[in-house]
Amino acid sequence: MSKIVVVGAGQAGASVVATLRANGFTGHVTLIGEEHAPPYQRPPLSKAYLLGEMALDRLFLRPESYYAENAIDLRLDTRVDAIDRSDKVVVAGGQSLSYDHLVLTTGSVPRRLPGAIGGELRGVHVVRTLRDVDKMAPSVVAGRHALIVGGGYIGLEAAAVCSKKGMKVTLVEMAERILNRVACPETAAYFRALHAGHDVDIREGVGLDRLVGEGHVEGAVLSDGTEIKADLVIAGIGITPATALAEAAGIGIDNGIAVDAHARTSDPSIWSAGDCASFPWKGGRVRLESVGNAIDMGELVARNILGADEEYVAKPWFWSGQYDVKLQIAGLARGGETIVVRGDGPVRSHWYYSDDELVAVDAMNDPRGYMVGKRLIEAGKSPQPDAVADPATDLKSLLKA
Ligand code: ADP
Repeated sequence: MSKIVVVGAGQAGASVVATLRANGFTGHVTLIGEEHAPPYQRPPLSKAYLLGEMALDRLFLRPESYYAENAIDLRLDTRVDAIDRSDKVVVAGGQSLSYDHLVLTTGSVPRRLPGAIGGELRGVHVVRTLRDVDKMAPSVVAGRHALIVGGGYIGLEAAAVCSKKGMKVTLVEMAERILNRVACPETAAYFRALHAGHDVDIREGVGLDRLVGEGHVEGAVLSDGTEIKADLVIAGIGITPATALAEAAGIGIDNGIAVDAHARTSDPSIWSAGDCASFPWKGGRVRLESVGNAIDMGELVARNILGADEEYVAKPWFWSGQYDVKLQIAGLARGGETIVVRGDGPVRSHWYYSDDELVAVDAMNDPRGYMVGKRLIEAGKSPQPDAVADPATDLKSLLKA
C-alpha cells in the first residue's frame, strides 16, 4: 500500500490530504505541521480575527475530528528536519517516516525587521500564524500608537484593524507608494484615500531607520529623521518561500520550490503546492501567495499522485478587506499595464491591459465587475477598453461578445 507524506499543514497541505481521501485513496496519509493548531484559514488573521470579530473555531478548515475520521495521521507541533531522498524518508524529531510520494506544502516565512534596528524589542510583531496574532491582539488598544511597517495588503489590513480599534496609526512604506509590488497607482490611490478618511497617517517613500525602546518598543526613527511614538509595531514587509528543507535535500529551487507543469519537483517522487512552489506560467515562472492557489494546486497534486497526469492551469484570484471595502482581484498583473478605470465612487474597478490583453481586474465593492473580469480573463477574452470604461455598458454583455 502506498504511503503519502505531506509536510506543511496549512491550506495547501490540507487541500492535498482532503482530496486524496475524497478521491478514494486508501493508503497511508500523514500530514505534518510545525504549528500547534490544525489547518486553518490565514486571511482572516489580519482582518476579522485580529479585530475580534471571528471566533477561533471558525478559522479551522475542518473540525479536528475530521482527520482521525478520515485516517489522516495529523502530526502537529512537529518540524521536519530533513529529507533523505535516496531512502525516501523524512526525519522529524529523531523519527524517520518513509514515503512513496512526498508533498512539500511548506508555505512561506514572514520577513522580520532586523534585530540591529530594534526588530527584537517586545511589541514588534509579524502577521503570519495564529500564534502571532494571538500575541499581538491584546496590544491593539484604543488610544495607543501603532506603527505599521510596509504598505502591502498585510500592512494596510493591519492598519485598518488598528484604526477601527481606536489606535493612532502611522504606516510607513519605503517604496514611492503603497501597493507598489501588487497593484496599479489607481488602486493605491483608492486605498490611500480610504485610510486618510480613517485618520491613518500613511507616509510613502519613507522607511524605518530604527525602533527605539528599553526592552519594549517605545518609538521609531524614520528614514527622513522624523521621530514618532509607537507602542505596537506590525511589520508587513513581505514573505519568503519556505524552501530550506527542499534546498538542503538538493531539490531544484527557483524563487520557490521549482515544479513542472504537473507540480512535480526535480525529484519525481516529490511534489509541491501553495505559497512555496514556483510553477511554469506564460513562458516564465510564477509563485502565487494566495488561498486560491493553495487550494487548487493542492487538489491537482493529489489527483496527479493518483495518476491524473493534469497540467496546472492557475486561475489567480485574491482578496482584501479594509474597513467596509471589499477588494477582489482576478488575474495577475506584473506591472507596467495600461489601466482602464470603471466608476468614480466607492464602487470601482480597475482593468489592467497588457498591450491589448486584459490580464487583471481590481474590483472595489464591485462583485459583478470581479465576476465578469474573472470570467473574461479565464476565457482569454479582452473587451474594448472604451466599453469597459463606459458606465452605460452592461458588464455582462461583455461576456457574450
Ligand atoms: P505583504 O504580503 O507582507 O503585504 P508585500 O511584499 O506585498 O508583502 O508588501 C510589503 C511592502 O513592505 C512593500 O511595499 C515594501 O516596499 C515594504 N517594505 C519592506 N521593507 C520595508 C521597510 N523596512 N520599511 C518600509 N516599508 C518596507
